[in-house]
Amino acid sequence: MSLNSESFQKCIWPACGATFDLAQTLVACPNCGNLLDICYDWDHLPVPKNLDYFEQFWSQRRNPQRFSGVWRFHELLPFADLEDCLTIGEGQTSLQQADRLAAEVGLPPGNLMLQYEGFNPSGSFKDNGMAAALTHASIQGAEFAACASTGNTSASLAMFAAVTGAVKAIVFVGSGKIAYGKLSQALDYGACTIQIDGDFDDAMQRVRQVCPELGIYLVNSVNPFRLEGQKTIMLRVLESLQWQPPDWIVVPGGNLGNSSSFGKIFGELKMLGLIDRIPRIAVINAEGASTLNHLYNQKNFRWQQGQFSTTKAQDYFDVMRKSNATANTVASAIEINFPVNLAKCLRALEITDGVVRDVTDEEILDHKAMIARHGFGCEPASGASLAGVRRLREEGLISDSDRVVCILTGHVLKDPNVTVGYHTDQAWREEQGIRQATFANPPVTVPNELEQIIAAINQSH
Ligand SMILES: *Cc1c(COP(=O)(O)O)cnc(C)c1O
Ligand SMILES: [Zn+2]
Repeated sequence: MSLNSESFQKCIWPACGATFDLAQTLVACPNCGNLLDICYDWDHLPVPKNLDYFEQFWSQRRNPQRFSGVWRFHELLPFADLEDCLTIGEGQTSLQQADRLAAEVGLPPGNLMLQYEGFNPSGSFKDNGMAAALTHASIQGAEFAACASTGNTSASLAMFAAVTGAVKAIVFVGSGKIAYGKLSQALDYGACTIQIDGDFDDAMQRVRQVCPELGIYLVNSVNPFRLEGQKTIMLRVLESLQWQPPDWIVVPGGNLGNSSSFGKIFGELKMLGLIDRIPRIAVINAEGASTLNHLYNQKNFRWQQGQFSTTKAQDYFDVMRKSNATANTVASAIEINFPVNLAKCLRALEITDGVVRDVTDEEILDHKAMIARHGFGCEPASGASLAGVRRLREEGLISDSDRVVCILTGHVLKDPNVTVGYHTDQAWREEQGIRQATFANPPVTVPNELEQIIAAINQSH
C-alpha cells in the first residue's frame, strides 16, 4: 500500500508554509499550529484536460473505486494508489431540480437544485470525507480511529469500521443534543461510544487530547484527508450540471469542513483550467451557533491571502470560552461554537467571493418542512441552506437568473424527534421558540369508526 510521492501536506499559513510527508499523521502544523492542506505537484501528475474525462468511468461500475462517487474522481485527489482507496459505495448521491420549491423562495423554474448527500450509506455527506481519511489511516496501519461528533461523523466512522474492518471505531459524543437516528447508528455498528458530560465543543477538545496520548487516528475535519474526500461533492454537482458551474452553492456551516473543501476544489479546478468561473459560496449558520457569521460580518475577519492566522481565531475563542458561551440550536449537526476549520473557511470565502448569514431555528424548521413537502427531505441542519437562499433572495444578492445549488447534508430520517415535534407538538415548539410552524402537518385523530374516518378524509381537502 502506498502514498503518492507527488503529494504532500502543507501548512495553510503562508508565513509558515512548512511541508510534511504524507506518511506523517498530523492534524495541525507542528511549527505554528495552523491547519494543514493536502497538496499535489500537478505538473508531475496526470491531470485531465477536461472534466468530461471522468465520464469514461461511468461504465466501470464493477470496479469498486470507480463506482465510488469519491474515487471516480481520483485524479483530483490522488494521494493514495487507486486500488488502496477504501470504499463502502459512498457518493451515490443525486442533484434534484426542484421547480415547485424554487417558486416558494422566489426563483424561476430550473434555477434551484438540491444536492442530496443524505443518500450516502450512513445517511450524510460525512461518508465522502471518511472514505479519504480512513484510506490514509489504513495505509498508516492505524488500529483505532476516533472522532468527536454531533452524530453524523460518528455514524460514518462506525459504519466504515463495521463494513471494512480496517480500523476499530471510538466515538465521543456530548450528553446534550444528539439525534437518535445518529446515536443509534454508532451503537448498532458496534463503535465504542464515549458519552461525555458536555457538548460537542467539549468532546472535540477531549478527543484531541486523547488521540496523541493513545496513538489513535483522528478523523474529525481537522484531518486534512477528510476534506479531500469532501471535495468530490462539488465534482458530482458539476457532473450533474454537465460540468457547468452554478452561480451559488449554499451550505450549512458547523465545523466548516464542507465550505473549506468546496473552496479548495474550486481554486484547484480554476488553476488547472478545468472551470472558467467559480461559483459563490454562501455559508449559513444557525443563529444559536453563529460564530462564523459574527466574525465575518461584525468583526470583519478575512483571510487576506493568508495574513489571517488560526491563532487570531484561538484568541477570540478564548474570550468566548471565558464568557461560558455555549451553542444552542435545534439543528444539532451545526450546534458548534468553535468551528475548527475557521481559517480554511475564510480562505474559501475569499476564493469564492462568498457570503455568510445566520438563520433562526424557526426558519430552519420551516424550510426543512418545505424541502420535504416538495422533495426527498433532509435533516434540520440541511434546512438552513434553503432558509439561506430565501434570505439572500430577499436581499437581492441572489438574482432571479442565478442558478442555485443547496447542499442537503443529511437524511430526513436522522432526526425524527425534531420532525415529529415540529408537526405535532405545540409545547415542544414553544420550547424551541417556534411560533408559527407554517408547514406543520399534524395527524388527524379520529375514533375507530368508519363514518367518522370518511368524514375526516372529506374534510381534509
Ligand atoms: C457535519 C454536518 C454539518 C456541518 O458541516 P461542516 O462541514 O462541519 O460545516 C451540517 N449538516 C450535517 C447533516 C452534518 O452532519
Ligand atoms: Zn505552520
